[in-house]
Amino acid sequence: MEGRSKLQNQLQQLVEKNRRWTSKGKVATYIPELGKADPSILGISVMDMHGNLYSAGDYKQKFTLQSITKVITLMLAIMERGMEVVFEHVGMEPTGDPFNSIVKLETTSPSKPLNPMINAGAIAVVSLLEGTPDERVERILRLIRQMTGNPNITYNGRVYHSEHQTGDLNRALAFFLRNHGVIHGSVEEHLEVYFKQSSIEMTTEDVARMGLVIANEGKDIMGKEIIPSSVVKIAKAFMVTCGMYNASGEFAIRVGIPSKSGVGGGILSVVPGKYGIGVIGPALDDKGNSIAGIKLLEDLSSIYHLTIFN
Ligand code: GLU
Repeated sequence: MEGRSKLQNQLQQLVEKNRRWTSKGKVATYIPELGKADPSILGISVMDMHGNLYSAGDYKQKFTLQSITKVITLMLAIMERGMEVVFEHVGMEPTGDPFNSIVKLETTSPSKPLNPMINAGAIAVVSLLEGTPDERVERILRLIRQMTGNPNITYNGRVYHSEHQTGDLNRALAFFLRNHGVIHGSVEEHLEVYFKQSSIEMTTEDVARMGLVIANEGKDIMGKEIIPSSVVKIAKAFMVTCGMYNASGEFAIRVGIPSKSGVGGGILSVVPGKYGIGVIGPALDDKGNSIAGIKLLEDLSSIYHLTIFN
């Protein structure tokens, strides 16, 4: 990308151009607190390898990361337990099913979740972190604070309670997994960690900073290693194959940037060796991805040739 003001203006124009898409989507309502989001919001931040940050639209808006945290906890679990243990409990394949689907758990044998980006897989991953729920949440927050360089990041208590109260499908998934010996211990404790991580809140600027660490093979802009590059490589592969729910294939073709979305309307995107990108647009399409956010990334990718499949 070129000079500072050019990119800044470009982002501004792309937000203006794509904001109309927000009216075509719907905010998630299955968690009542998420239903309160303003559907017309659209914002983006891009951070380059020099630490320059470019933002446009509603980039000051805080939102909960939801499924975006699945990438972070996966990396933490691999760092703490090793790749072998993690992938004994969760697979590496896309499902083609919605994020909260239970169907493949019953039809595949052994019934370990197909990948760590779906709810069942993410619950299996948090079950591998050792310690009390508080200790586990604290370690997830610590990693996120290191990646963003923002010590104030925490989870949103109201969203957490809302998730906890309405999380029966996740509860069902977790009990199913325990019944089949994929997870052990207290289901409620694992879910507490899972719901709290989903409720971690930040702005697109923070998301762009997290993205930059992944784009920079696990190092911050000063070159300090936060995550080993071998672990980051696994995260990027999952972002490509399963990061955009059951629209990951189409997104790879149209946008081609490793990304992970969440039902709060956020998207974490990573252009390896170049940019960390954060997007917010709470109005979702029928797959659960930010409808205007995808259009914005599609334009950005095509203007600046950001696809990794060149
Ligand atoms: N907390 C959400 C759930 O499990 C995360 C969903 C998502 O962002 O995909 O229902």
